[in-house]
Amino acid sequence: MDADVKASARRRRARLRAVEQASLIRWWLFDTMGWCCANCGTIANVELDHPHGRNWEPRNCDCVTRAKRYLRDWADGNLRILCRTCNAKDGGRRGGFKRPKQVARALAPQVAMEDGR
Ligand SMILES: [Zn+2]
Repeated sequence: MDADVKASARRRRARLRAVEQASLIRWWLFDTMGWCCANCGTIANVELDHPHGRNWEPRNCDCVTRAKRYLRDWADGNLRILCRTCNAKDGGRRGGFKRPKQVARALAPQVAMEDGR
C-alpha cells in the first residue's frame, strides 16, 4: 500500500515536470515568434499553426512529445502564430487541414502506375 502511494506520488511529480517542460517549450516558441498573429498582427487568441500542414496528430501525443514536435516543425520553417480567426479562415481556404500523409496516400496509386510503365 505504502509503495503504491509512493509510486503514485512519483508519477504525479513526473507528470508535473512533463507539463512544465512542455509549457516552457511553448512559451519559448511564442517568445521567439513574437506572440502576435502572422496575418493580422493581433495578440488575442493566438495559437500555433502549420502553414504546410503536419503529418502527426497532436491528440495522439503526450504534452512533451507535442511540444518537441512543434519545436522541430518550427526549425523546419513549418510553424507560425495565427489568431483563431485567421487560423479558421486559413483552414477553410485549404479545404480543411490536409495532412501531408493523406496527400501522399492520395497520390500513391498514380505514382505506382507511373512506376509500372
Ligand atoms: Zn489574425
